[in-house]
Amino acid sequence: MNDQVTAIAIDGPAGAGKSTIAKRVAKDLGYIYVDTGAMYRAMAIHFIRKGISPEDTAGIEANAESASVTIKYINGEQRVYLNDEDVTAILRTPEVSNMASVSSAVPKVRLKLVELQRELARTNNVVMDGRDIGSYVLPDARIKIYMTAGIKERAKRRYNEMLEKGQECDLAQIEKEIEERDYRDMHRDFAPLVQAPDATLIDTSTMSIEEVAETVKNLVYGPINYGSWQ
Ligand code: C5P
Repeated sequence: MNDQVTAIAIDGPAGAGKSTIAKRVAKDLGYIYVDTGAMYRAMAIHFIRKGISPEDTAGIEANAESASVTIKYINGEQRVYLNDEDVTAILRTPEVSNMASVSSAVPKVRLKLVELQRELARTNNVVMDGRDIGSYVLPDARIKIYMTAGIKERAKRRYNEMLEKGQECDLAQIEKEIEERDYRDMHRDFAPLVQAPDATLIDTSTMSIEEVAETVKNLVYGPINYGSWQ
């Protein structure tokens, strides 16, 4: 990796608060925030549009090649493009979540996106969140964080988020889906979700966003010493 750029990797299970914190840290440091889950979601949209079912691994493999996922930053916000179409607004439906969770276990899908993720980190200072960033994508990341929280707390946060958006939801169902997604991420053969040996564990179950941000800030200040935060 280029010595001129710095990477902060934040991994962990679904709903642990990774993206909220990653966005904030990126903004404060003037780094770009790379949401790798959004890339897997864009690939999922491709497979759904091709009429492939989540169980059809061969179909997913055969169609991975024809998807081109790219990223642009517009007013500091990540936009995700699938074959040149901005799909950012349609990434977060339950159907896409499910397809992304299943298709992300296919090595061909992962390798394609890992290349894009490494390229972004080669040329920019990044805060990148995902499942395998510290353990696989950016093993030399300057700071690695494994962020987690109890399943009940994570489900409750998702539930509240959806309620706020006016979406109908069921807490028990959300909890079940999160558990299934975590299980798949942790048990796939290729680049599973694990805490990298050199990652700092942050359990956000009983922490406020402010407290988590403060903890991360202290980690960043220590080894990198960037000066004051705005
Ligand atoms: O983080 P988010 O829920 O948006 O990610 C969507 C899906 O993509 C996850 O359920 C996970 O299976 C997959 N993913 C992954 N590796 C990453 C990021 C996301 O496997 N680095």
